[in-house]
Amino acid sequence: MREVLLYEKLPGSRAKCHICQWRCTIGPGKLGVCKMRQNIDGVLYALNYAEVSSVAIDPIEKKPLFHFFPGSLVFSLGTWGCNFHCKHCQNWQISWTDPSFLEGSRTISPEDAIAMAKRERCQGIAWTYNEPGIWFDYTLDSAKLAKEHDLYTVYVTNGYITPEALDTIGPYLDAYRVDVKGFSDKFYRDLAKVSGWRGILEVVERAQQKWGMHVEVVTNVIPTMNDDEEQLEGIATWIRDKLGELTPWHVTRFYPQHQMLHLPPTPIATLEHAYAIGRRVGLRFVYTGNVPGHTNENTICYSCGNLIIARVGYHTDIVGLEDSRCRFCGADLNMRTGRRSQ
Ligand code: SF4
Repeated sequence: MREVLLYEKLPGSRAKCHICQWRCTIGPGKLGVCKMRQNIDGVLYALNYAEVSSVAIDPIEKKPLFHFFPGSLVFSLGTWGCNFHCKHCQNWQISWTDPSFLEGSRTISPEDAIAMAKRERCQGIAWTYNEPGIWFDYTLDSAKLAKEHDLYTVYVTNGYITPEALDTIGPYLDAYRVDVKGFSDKFYRDLAKVSGWRGILEVVERAQQKWGMHVEVVTNVIPTMNDDEEQLEGIATWIRDKLGELTPWHVTRFYPQHQMLHLPPTPIATLEHAYAIGRRVGLRFVYTGNVPGHTNENTICYSCGNLIIARVGYHTDIVGLEDSRCRFCGADLNMRTGRRSQ
C-alpha cells in the first residue's frame, strides 16, 4: 500500500479524495466509492497500486481508437474496482469488486510494465478495462516512464476524473478515449447512480485543449435508455461544437450484460440511425462498433471520398494515408501516426 496523491486531510482523521468527481470524504477505516482507496488513521492509501487484474497485447482499434497509431499494438492493463458501477458493465467481474479480490491479482511494477510492452513490440501502453483513475498513482508513474521509453500512452476512461487529476497526468498522456455514455441526468442516474455528469464534458475539453491529447468519444447505444434522438443529437452536437468536427465518434452495439439482461442487443438499424445523426450534425468521422464487417468501420476521406483505412474487426488495412493526411487530396484527417522505437 502507498499513500496517494491528491487528497486532503480533514478534522477527525477523515480524508477527502480529489482523484475523481465523487470527491469522497472517507472516515477512518473506510473505503471510497471505488473501494480501492482506504483511510487508515487519517492517511489515504491506494490498495491497488500495481495490482493487475487483466493484461493483454491488443490492437489499438480494440480500445477503440481509430485515428491514433492505426494498426499498432498497445500493451493494455486493468486493475480491480471502478468508480462507476454501470448496470451493463461488460467487465463487471473486475470492476464490481472489493479489496478481497486483490488476493487474486498479479503485481506488475511500472518498470516491468514498460519492459513487457517493449519486449512484446507494442508502440504504447493503455490503462483500460476499468477506470484508470482508480489506480491513478500507478498510471502516473507508468506514464512518466513510458514517455522516457518513447511509448505512447492512453487512458480508456469514463471521464469522471477531476480537472486537477487530469492536470497532474496531462503532460504524460497522449490519448484520451472517453465514454460519453448518454446526455441526460436521468440516463447517468439510472445507469450508474452518477450525478454531475456534465463535469465529464468539461474535463474532456480540457484534455484536448489544455493538454493536446488526441480524443475519441464512445457511446454504447442501449435500447430504451440512450437511443433517443435528443441524447444522440446532444452528444454529436457537443462533440462538433466543443471538440471539433474531426473528432471521431464511435456508436457501439450494446449486448445484454450483467444487470441488463432484459434488454435486447442494439438493432443495427438503431446504430445506423445514430451514425446518420452524427453525420447530419456535421461530424466527419462516425463509426459503428461491435458490428464486425460493417462498412461504417472504414475511414473515408470526407473531402474526396476515397477509402483511407479499411477495417474488418481488428484487421486494419491502411491504404490512403500519407504524412497523417489523405494521400489523394491532402485533407486533414485528425490522424496521429508514426513509428515509435521498440
Ligand atoms: S478515486 Fe473517486 S471513488 Fe475512489 S476514493 Fe477517490 S473520489 Fe472516491
